[in-house]
Amino acid sequence: MPIRRLPPLLVDQIAAGEVVERPASVVKELFENAVDAGASRVRVEIEGGGTQLIAVRDDGGGIPAEELELALAPHATSKITEPQDLEAIATMGFRGEALASIASVARVRITSRPPEAESAAVVAAASGRLEPLRPCAGPPGTLVEVRDLFFNVPARRKFLRGETAESTRVADQVRLLALAHPTVGVRLDVDGRTRLDLPADQDAHARIRDVLGRELEPHLLPLEHDEAGVRVRGMIGTPELARPTARAIRLLLNGRPIADRTVVHAVREGYRGLIEPGRSPTVVLWLQVDPRRVDVNVHPQKTEVRFRDQAAVHAAVRHAIREALRRADIVPAVDLSRVGESGDGGPIRGAVETMLHRGAWGAGRPPGTPVPPSGGGFGGSGLRVGPAAGFGTSSPRPAGPSPVMLSHLRTALEAESVDDATRERLMDLVAGTVAESAAPPAEPSFAGIRPVIDVMQVHGSFLVAQDERGLLIVDQHALHERIMFEELRERLAEGSLESQRQLMPIVLEVPEGHLEHLPALEPLLGRLGFELSPLGPTAIGVHAVPTLLVQRRVDIPGFLEDLLRRTDEDGSPPDGEAALSEVLDMMACKAAVKAGEKLSAADMAELMAARERFERSSNCPHGRPTTLRLSIEDLERQFGRR
Ligand code: ADP
Ligand code: MG
Repeated sequence: MPIRRLPPLLVDQIAAGEVVERPASVVKELFENAVDAGASRVRVEIEGGGTQLIAVRDDGGGIPAEELELALAPHATSKITEPQDLEAIATMGFRGEALASIASVARVRITSRPPEAESAAVVAAASGRLEPLRPCAGPPGTLVEVRDLFFNVPARRKFLRGETAESTRVADQVRLLALAHPTVGVRLDVDGRTRLDLPADQDAHARIRDVLGRELEPHLLPLEHDEAGVRVRGMIGTPELARPTARAIRLLLNGRPIADRTVVHAVREGYRGLIEPGRSPTVVLWLQVDPRRVDVNVHPQKTEVRFRDQAAVHAAVRHAIREALRRADIVPAVDLSRVGESGDGGPIRGAVETMLHRGAWGAGRPPGTPVPPSGGGFGGSGLRVGPAAGFGTSSPRPAGPSPVMLSHLRTALEAESVDDATRERLMDLVAGTVAESAAPPAEPSFAGIRPVIDVMQVHGSFLVAQDERGLLIVDQHALHERIMFEELRERLAEGSLESQRQLMPIVLEVPEGHLEHLPALEPLLGRLGFELSPLGPTAIGVHAVPTLLVQRRVDIPGFLEDLLRRTDEDGSPPDGEAALSEVLDMMACKAAVKAGEKLSAADMAELMAARERFERSSNCPHGRPTTLRLSIEDLERQFGRR
């Protein structure tokens, strides 16, 4: 076939393929034109999933009659005039192709009247052919009607879903646009039924509540953060609002809905440890960045953007989210419907018996045994990562339960259905412990941290303590892992981790292919304190290792094999932040105390104090909770005292 210039209609239809994918994309273009025209209200109507009719009416500045035909021409726009304008785009549209594209794949009619004009004018087009302009009656503003979408491109029509599915997409799109422009009144009618009706001039948070649904309100946290020229506002859901898809992450940049991997990654990083991997939080974020620092001319639908300074945007978003989550003390509550199902006696009796039986006040001492000075413990073995590692020097403190805690237990026992003899026996034991622990607690050795004095270990795996709201039950491994992860991250932000040289290198045999990603991993491993060199295709020499791993007696070859295997399974070389987090996860998990490991009173106090410092410690990096809370109110209710 000879080369030919394509006829204009075909050119437009090809271009339309990029802009107009489905009814929801038409709605987006028309809605954004209304916003660019300064509308204070936009009304969207669709019929038949948008394939029969899409009508968008606004009360904006309108189009003068003499420009009406031009509005439908390709590459015709009132929004930019010269190349420099592309460097700082302040409007939603600028490519001048939406109306032309839509008109090439549907029947379009535009009725418009600038407020100062005496009457409106109407122009219609189908398959690229214009009908003559006519004056007509009409209110100020613009009405664009799009009928029979894709009537002349059957291939496109085939890709559409059913009416209901397309209607749902339109509704989602309109909600997103309503979030992007909180001050614009928005109404959506689907087949004659009003699905959304939002007043103009809403404040941003009210708009979020109206769009997401008021029932979510108790689970939303406000967010406000400015950093390095990036302004982040919005509302984010507590971890229980996590969803299996990323659809609930709504990102709006300078009023434009965007899909951006960097920002989504930063959001997930912010929630790291609070949400299981694979699930996504509910988030609405308005980002504001100087338009000169972001290129929106990357994608015909303008949903992809390119940031000049991607790292700054990533950091700002991540910090904004972390800060908001940290401000809200997020600790899951114990599910009381499941407590006490487990057989003989009530839960409190069981717990008290276990503790007394096992001597679990403190670290395995029977009640009444003097507390040994806690000079050793984990202090020397690196329970902590930071320079303050080892609170082992702190003075001994009594590890018995406080009078307050005991009185709650006594109350609980009274309410529980235990026989009198048992209750007497338990009460005696409890009273004995009170007498033992009556000595005033020693001053804690760490300033600025509210010490947790009473901690007991249950079954070698859980720590039980109290705070002002009730009982805390902590998974010792999960908590320690969380703390290590945060501390490692903090230390890395300041520099490299402490490292220990090997007198003789450890030689590690690895399966073929696992060394492929070693060069990419090396800078990261170096910061962590590893020094490695390849010894042929299937072995490496380990010359230095992170001190922490040595102190915590982590199996170094095992750790490295795991790391290399994981990198190999991922198939691609690890990149930046994500890889770092993953390796820190691994280090924290391997170095953390295990379930079943006995802890001294000092170790437990240290862990709980660190928990206070990392307020977000309620979930370990894998997303399992580290702490459950049983509030006094819950206890009282459970025992029928309320
Ligand atoms: P773009 O928005 O990229 O400029 P469009 O094809 O969407 O391109 O629109 C072409 C032009 O038509 C716009 O630049 C604008 O001047 C005018 N226009 C379109 N819709 C409206 C509207 N609702 N109100 C006022 N003017 C509009
Ligand atoms: Mg436009």
